[in-house]
Amino acid sequence: MDELNIPYCLPEIGEEEIAEVVDTLRSGWLTMGPKTIAFEEQIAAYTGAKYAVAVNSCTAALHLSLLAYGIGRGDEVITSPYTFASTGNVIVHSGARPVFADIQRDTFNIDPEKINEAITPKTKAIIPVHFAGQPCDMKEIQEIADDHNLVVIEDAAHAIGAEYRGKKIGSLSDATCFSFYATKNMTTGEGGAVTTDDQKIADKMRILRLHGISKDAWKRYSAQGSWYYEIEECGWKYNMTDIQAALGIHQLRKLDGFVATRRKYAEMYSAALRDLEGVVTPVEKEGRKHVYHLYPVLVNEMNRGDFIREMAEMGIGCSVHFIPLHQHPAYQKLFECMKGDCPNATWLYEHEVSLPLYPKMSLMDLESVISCINRVMYD
Ligand SMILES: *Cc1c(COP(=O)(O)O)cnc(C)c1O
Repeated sequence: MDELNIPYCLPEIGEEEIAEVVDTLRSGWLTMGPKTIAFEEQIAAYTGAKYAVAVNSCTAALHLSLLAYGIGRGDEVITSPYTFASTGNVIVHSGARPVFADIQRDTFNIDPEKINEAITPKTKAIIPVHFAGQPCDMKEIQEIADDHNLVVIEDAAHAIGAEYRGKKIGSLSDATCFSFYATKNMTTGEGGAVTTDDQKIADKMRILRLHGISKDAWKRYSAQGSWYYEIEECGWKYNMTDIQAALGIHQLRKLDGFVATRRKYAEMYSAALRDLEGVVTPVEKEGRKHVYHLYPVLVNEMNRGDFIREMAEMGIGCSVHFIPLHQHPAYQKLFECMKGDCPNATWLYEHEVSLPLYPKMSLMDLESVISCINRVMYD
């Protein structure tokens, strides 16, 4: 066998993206401008939301969503421990306290029953995370939110294009946050967006993403000239740029094709690995369209670290998602989280391996990964 070199992840950037970026550079409009606005309209149309606000990351999108809904000091926000740093960190930055509800063993997604158990009079919001691109139990989560008057903000960093009961993620809850980071299902290098149907919330986020400077003041005092502005609230520097939007416009057009390839590859992995002893493959729950940002398997009968090391020695990059937030030193110190807090999250973390899965991979790459797994586990 030739030396393999299959990295864990690679972005898929075409000539259209390159030409659009060059066009932006030649236009002289480098920061947020017409292409960002066009991109926002396209994201809203694609997801079926009324409004989309483009920002410089999903982290910023989550932070602005919490702020726009007035969540802060003294409040509690229930979220999944099985997520990236952003989801928990922005809750902390808002002044609120993150409360972790354990996840389901089959989907890695937050368990609605555990949300119910975690509710207190201080609970203000729920942030479900659509792990790997599979939508959470949104009906059950929305019912809990309605019963307790809570805001639902989705961390859909993995889930653009995913569907729940025939509706696109982005059109379901109070606010949905997407990531266009380099490794995600579509990319602007760095970037993110929030979708919402609430015009006031969208307007507030547009102001907060650019220093809290009010556009209304511009209009009201336009007689004074274009130099006039008012700081309405002390905001952030979270805007997207037209260079990023130039990438996003073409990535969004290609997204359904990317998703189709991801789903096809996931099906091929599952067909080859489903019956292997010691490997558990992911499930797609009824009524959802999983977009397989990740293809997470559980390695049960072999040390997970050995598996990843032996795959790497054969030229195959694997990864692990995620080290649960309650196991990190900052969360243990700040919130007295214990290692045993969320047993399902802890157990899944100890056995999870994310296999390479991206549209740029070839069918031969995929077959090589499968044959290397067989060698690692059975030779
Ligand atoms: C990548 C990721 C984020 C953060 O996205 P950025 O755009 O890099 O800020 C948030 N949540 C989850 C679950 C992620 O995987």
